[in-house]
Amino acid sequence: MLILMRAQAPAAEVDAVCRAVEERGFRPVKLPGEDRVAIGVLGSNPISLRDAIISMPGVVDAVPVSKPFKLVGREFHPDPTIVSVGGVEIGNNHFAVMAGPCSVESEEQLMESAQAVADAGGHILRGGAFKPRTSPYSFRGMGEDGLKLLAAARQRFGLPVVTEVMNIEDVELVSQYADMLQIGARNMQNYGLLEAAGRTLRPILLKRGLSSTIEEWLLSAEYILGQGNGQVVLCERGIRTFETYTRNTLDLSAAPLVRELSHLPVIIDPSHGTGKWSLVAPMAVAALAAEASGLMVEVHPHPDHALSDGAQSLTPRHFAELMERLRLIAEPLGRRL
Ligand code: PEP
Ligand code: MN
Repeated sequence: MLILMRAQAPAAEVDAVCRAVEERGFRPVKLPGEDRVAIGVLGSNPISLRDAIISMPGVVDAVPVSKPFKLVGREFHPDPTIVSVGGVEIGNNHFAVMAGPCSVESEEQLMESAQAVADAGGHILRGGAFKPRTSPYSFRGMGEDGLKLLAAARQRFGLPVVTEVMNIEDVELVSQYADMLQIGARNMQNYGLLEAAGRTLRPILLKRGLSSTIEEWLLSAEYILGQGNGQVVLCERGIRTFETYTRNTLDLSAAPLVRELSHLPVIIDPSHGTGKWSLVAPMAVAALAAEASGLMVEVHPHPDHALSDGAQSLTPRHFAELMERLRLIAEPLGRRL
């Protein structure tokens, strides 16, 4: 429910309404607007409060919120959120490219990748140190040694770093090294992890679950915002369908659709979204046109030898060509890189 206060309602009236909401077991969120404050009410069945609140001084109306997500929705928060990752802005018209290897494999491999990302004008370095793998016998990442290499690459190339955290116990460790915490597709509904990551107040990259609806994805983001962390970027990375020629089916419509539903930025991951390096550039270009706020792209100096996701990784040359192409089409599309 949204409680609308009259224009210029004094702070004392707003506070009294917030107290009344709290006393009835709900959580008030002050939503300052241009000339008036609204109060969002969180909790189960908040409309039951309406009769008690509507006659309080300063209250103009109390209206139900139509969507199940509140903090991430446009109804509570009409203006787009800009997320800042180590000085790189993402959201609205700020388009950011996160790129790097699927996994951190060695110092040489990461530094070569980071050099390629920096040279081509990428904005944020990605690389997994804790890898969610389908088979327990696959390469599962370098752990803290990988995080140290990411921090060294940040130092050397001036690129902020995003990396995945898979377990609640690792949240503190990963946030010592990373500028942004990635919650992977497989953990999108690991609610304890979402809340623990949210509490760090680090920017969070929340990937869409393998078979998740947009509503489930936004409700997962709601867990993070519920911890007082509004710095969340959503990442569409393809969903599982009957198609087998691609690894996943990339749902590009998620970008403009979520833009209507939520103030949070959405980026597109055409690497996991397709599973094929040759499809990455066309889908990346489409993402820019589809009003996404950025990209996550896997880049490896030698994709044939990658320990994970080589088939979908761009070489440094192909990544540089993609960045050039994005810059060329950005202006006619009214976008800027
Ligand atoms: C990744 O980014 O390397 C990754 C494991 O992604 P996802 O969680 O989308 O599968
Ligand atoms: Mn990967």
